[in-house]
Amino acid sequence: MKLYPLFAALAGRPVLVVGGGEVAARKVAALRAAGALVRVGAPALNSGLKQAIARGEVQHLSGSFVEAWLDDVWLVVAATADRRVNEHVAAAAQARRIWANVVDDAQLSSFHVPAVIDRSPLLVAISSGGAAPMLARWLRERLEILLDHALGPLAALLEKKRGAIRARHRDPGNRRRFYDKLLAGPIWNALRGADAAGAERELNRALAGTATGQTGSVVLVGAGPGDPGLLTLRALRVLNEADVILHDRLVGAAILDLARRDALRIEVGKQAGRHDVTQENIHALLLEHARAGRRVVRLKGGDPFVFGRGGEELQFLRAHAVPYEVVPGITAALACAAYAGVPLTHREHAQSVRFVTAHCKESLDTLDWPALAAERQTLAIYMGVAQLQALRDQLIAHGRAATTPFALVENGTRPQQRVITGTLAELPRLQRRHAVQSPALLIVGEVAVLATKLAWFGEQAPALAAAA
Ligand code: SAH
Repeated sequence: MKLYPLFAALAGRPVLVVGGGEVAARKVAALRAAGALVRVGAPALNSGLKQAIARGEVQHLSGSFVEAWLDDVWLVVAATADRRVNEHVAAAAQARRIWANVVDDAQLSSFHVPAVIDRSPLLVAISSGGAAPMLARWLRERLEILLDHALGPLAALLEKKRGAIRARHRDPGNRRRFYDKLLAGPIWNALRGADAAGAERELNRALAGTATGQTGSVVLVGAGPGDPGLLTLRALRVLNEADVILHDRLVGAAILDLARRDALRIEVGKQAGRHDVTQENIHALLLEHARAGRRVVRLKGGDPFVFGRGGEELQFLRAHAVPYEVVPGITAALACAAYAGVPLTHREHAQSVRFVTAHCKESLDTLDWPALAAERQTLAIYMGVAQLQALRDQLIAHGRAATTPFALVENGTRPQQRVITGTLAELPRLQRRHAVQSPALLIVGEVAVLATKLAWFGEQAPALAAAA
């Protein structure tokens, strides 16, 4: 180990930054965030630094570097573009035994600044000792994704309760076991749900030895429409922590591959017309695994609350006192529209958009057709592939023009995505001709015509003409 890692307490201590450009400004901001009294020395300053000085947040030393600037500072950062100035700063600091960092110059630096993941009061710092700063940055980005933001409030809570925990568990071994149990438990759920008071109650209960012992929970997660890049960060994190994943058939392998390797995966797929696992069975599985203390992820295509029966599952969990969270996903209407180049609203064409399900004949009969046929709106119709003829007939019968454009998006956001466009009158014929299958989303409205101009995804997309 070439470097000794340490964290510096700079609050209220003078620190010098030499340089007045963009890089210096970034260093100033980071030092100020740690409470340092920053002095900036430079002949010229960028506008951000000028404003900080005008606000009195930073002190300015004007002109070129002189050694007297180092009087009574604890640290110095040299961030000028002039190597000779940087060398001068480093040498002067060395003579006075003041820690110096020269930006991007490991050789001249007596301390390095790590790449940081900030979950204050918890900090993760990464250094490659100047060997490969890119690698440190790369790792930081990876960890940034993995480390939940609830770690910050968790660390703050543990700080607050540290004395009480010590008093309760004097033996270090006991104390470690207490922490292990605490961190596997419901305290996380509370903090992720932004319930700091609830987390503190859990901790107090654990301290008093009256914890419920119930550690199982369910996270209802929207997996988005198929492209794994459309998962949310939170979805990725909970997939990493899951013990059990109950997923719909629509959720593809590319997404399941992102989950913890040893998580138990159970497909509870429902296919149009085929009900492999009943809703009651899904409820029973959720309950069984949560009650066994497992972290269960219920993974659904798109968003769990849009035609996903997510509401029923939560009602069931609430009735059985199983703690839960919901992670929204990108619903098929938004995703298919985006990947087909169809803006769902448009100032000239549509002021509103409706998400409609056309599941079966009976559900079609219950729809408000006069409202659906109204102009200047976009319809995003889910589960409609088997009902396209009836959909077209009803819309036209209730007054929507037969020339209204549609875009039918099959396998949206996946490599095999297809977009069929045409007018309402031709819809059933075009579907038959292209043999469009489920899953497909139908977009009806003037905006649908833009698919032919704005498409960008997949092999059908028109090539962009090179700008002249
Ligand atoms: N909860 C889901 C919808 C479930 S209903 C969501 O928010 O997206 C299933 C219907 O969604 C399918 O019949 C189809 O109409 C639509 N759908 C889901 N994924 C799709 C995809 N990748 N491409 C096209 N349509 C999709």
